[in-house]
Amino acid sequence: MKQIGFNKPYLTGKETHYIYDAVNSGKISGNGKYTQKCQLFFEEHYGFKKVLLTTSCTDALEMCAILANIKEGDEVIVPSFTFVSTAIAFVRQGAKIIFADSYSDNPNIDADKIEALITDKTKAIVPVHYAGVACDMDKIMELAAKYNLFVIEDAAQAIDSFYTGKDGIKRALGSIGHLAAFSFHETKNIISGEGGMLAINDNQFIHRAEIIWEKGTNRAEFFRGEVNKYGWVDTGSSFLPSEIIAAFLWAQIENLEDIQQKRKLLWNHYYQKLSDINFSDFSLPKIPEYASNNAHMFYVVLKDIEQRTALISMLKENEIHAVFHYISLHSSDFYHEKHDGRILENSDKFTNCLVRFPLFYELETTAIDYIINLIKTTGF
Ligand SMILES: *Cc1c(COP(=O)(O)O)cnc(C)c1O
Repeated sequence: MKQIGFNKPYLTGKETHYIYDAVNSGKISGNGKYTQKCQLFFEEHYGFKKVLLTTSCTDALEMCAILANIKEGDEVIVPSFTFVSTAIAFVRQGAKIIFADSYSDNPNIDADKIEALITDKTKAIVPVHYAGVACDMDKIMELAAKYNLFVIEDAAQAIDSFYTGKDGIKRALGSIGHLAAFSFHETKNIISGEGGMLAINDNQFIHRAEIIWEKGTNRAEFFRGEVNKYGWVDTGSSFLPSEIIAAFLWAQIENLEDIQQKRKLLWNHYYQKLSDINFSDFSLPKIPEYASNNAHMFYVVLKDIEQRTALISMLKENEIHAVFHYISLHSSDFYHEKHDGRILENSDKFTNCLVRFPLFYELETTAIDYIINLIKTTGF
């Protein structure tokens, strides 16, 4: 068997065609035809009130922090088991991050432990839908309503994934919180190299988001003919991507269903085959009943770090690239001294024991069989 990488960005074949078209059209800066096609698709398909493409999910989160008016001394509740961007976007605005623990059987923020962290300084909760699996949004939205907080979904991994609430309605992740941020980084399900989007579900943010998006100017209104000159009206930055990025993304969007179908097939293959082994040494991902699975990631959780190291090394010897994931942010070099000292045992467990297996469009089920057979035969 030849070597198996962890990720391989999938190209649908149309990317360069649309990029060529964008370049040829003479409009290559942001907010042109392809940007608008992509934004409209996401709004119509997932029920977001307004979408703005951004150059990354990190950028979209920074926009969220500005829109929520996060200031020095405000507190923002963030899971510790997440990527740096989830916290840094708010730290840049001067917020203190209050880290929350994960569930014991699911890396997502434990919604039952959030209320105890809320103070009169709390401004926002930032649930992260780890592996594209929904957090318990009913509980989180209820807390937000009770304490008048914003909910900003880090939906970086959660494109085309859903949450079914107590009301029985199935909603797209990213359409439930006041604001949400997605990523199209090449490691995600649909990609544009670097890229992301801001989804806005609360009307009060739409007008200002457009301004922040275009360097604090009311340029978008001007080009729609709503004002007769444009200028500097607010804070902001250059958060919008060029048409070249949007053209790339459009090719991915056209193939979204096919991509999702293939990823789910691979995910289910892992799950089935590993269920058959019935090892007590590791646990398989748990998808709560309210959540769908967008097959963003396949992971298992080992008993301890030694076991995980042994598994990763065994696979590496066989030229298979499996990787662990986040290191709890509350114990990071940058933040551990600012953390309030609470022990977050589940977050630390996933830091030490979780391992992700290769999962990408062009992976073959025979490669998965090979990986699982190695696990079976070596016991690693
Ligand atoms: C990938 C990822 C990000 C960052 O996305 P970029 O587009 O690279 O900025 C943020 N949060 C989570 C949970 C992610 O997985």
